[in-house]
Amino acid sequence: MNAPILVINCGSSSIKYALIDSDPNAPRLAGIAERLGSTEAHLKGSNSCGESFQQSLSGADHAQALHAIFARLEERSPAAIGHRVVHGGEHFTQAALIDASVIDAIETTAALAPLHNPANLAGIAATRALFPYLPQVAVFDTAFHQTLPPQAYRYALPEALYTQHGIRRYGFHGTSHAFVSQRAGEISERGNGGWLVAHLGNGCSTSAVWHNQSLDTSMGLTPLEGVAMGTRSGDVDPGLHAHLHRQLGWSLDDIDRVLNKESGLYGLSGLTNDMREIEAAADEGHAGARLAFDVFCYRVAKSLAALSCALPTFDGVLLTGGIGENSFQVRKRVIHLLPHFGLALDDDKNTATRSGREGRIDAGNGPEVWVIPTDEEGRIAAETRQCLETHA
Ligand code: ADP
Repeated sequence: MNAPILVINCGSSSIKYALIDSDPNAPRLAGIAERLGSTEAHLKGSNSCGESFQQSLSGADHAQALHAIFARLEERSPAAIGHRVVHGGEHFTQAALIDASVIDAIETTAALAPLHNPANLAGIAATRALFPYLPQVAVFDTAFHQTLPPQAYRYALPEALYTQHGIRRYGFHGTSHAFVSQRAGEISERGNGGWLVAHLGNGCSTSAVWHNQSLDTSMGLTPLEGVAMGTRSGDVDPGLHAHLHRQLGWSLDDIDRVLNKESGLYGLSGLTNDMREIEAAADEGHAGARLAFDVFCYRVAKSLAALSCALPTFDGVLLTGGIGENSFQVRKRVIHLLPHFGLALDDDKNTATRSGREGRIDAGNGPEVWVIPTDEEGRIAAETRQCLETHA
């Protein structure tokens, strides 16, 4: 199958898309429709000559935006559509060809991802209505982590909460952790060994991957657990919620908003959720930015150290995501906090590796450290192809 795959990532007011060839290195048509449902709705992206465009879609809904996206595909008909779906619960251990029963199962898990799954489902419904002749595949953020053993995925809570309500750790960013660890298997002489992976973007998560199997990960029931992120708190004392409610009178919505949207780098610095700005402000002596940087790096290192328990053997650390791929300062600090793992960086290689470059940046005597640019869209396209082949 040589025709490209159209990858769709549908949010509540946005649709990201990428048209991906069977050769993963071929140029891509990609872009995003944003602010859907408002007068500022627009579509921006790049064409096959690498030129960028922006088009107003004032007042457009998801279906109208999808039409506009299809008009930008330069008449290259996709073989299928691969949808990113955030939560697959325990139903999905791999990508699934979408039919009524798959939609039912995604609906069933919507209670676990109330902000994301309904938007993903709306995208699926719109594309099925518009392009009923195209096969559609759901690729789940949670699926890669379905290999976690019970000791890693169960919370120490009464059993009925798990058996009757599905309350357990699921993990997210699975397509990124899968892509990066598989890539390490291709480029490292150590192959598919035991890797600690840090995906550090606006959302951040870590994982322990052994022989291409996720054995533990930092995110849990929701993408709020784990390390500190752009605006998300990551782990807090579970008693915090009751405390905020009882002592400050905060409602559940207040608590949810603060932990998801007003915490992390943003909350600590009082300035920004953007690591570039945090680093610049910290360099100028801004105390909040310095603290945000310190907490962020310490929490990533601590999480990697904790996840090392899951690995039968340890071959090194893989860094990815906007921060992992670009911030040599974060990488330096995180690795500096893990000397007892035998980890050390080559400072020149670390400083030189950024802007989408792949490279090994350790000093050469111990476990390896790699920067590997993630490719979630490429992975979704590859899984979509694989799913179609198994159903052919
Ligand atoms: P998302 O999770 O939304 O896909 P990205 O993976 O693009 O986000 O990561 C965004 C983060 O990467 C931001 O905090 C941004 O500041 C950070 N980042 C991007 N480039 C750099 C850089 N050169 N130095 C430090 N941080 C960077």
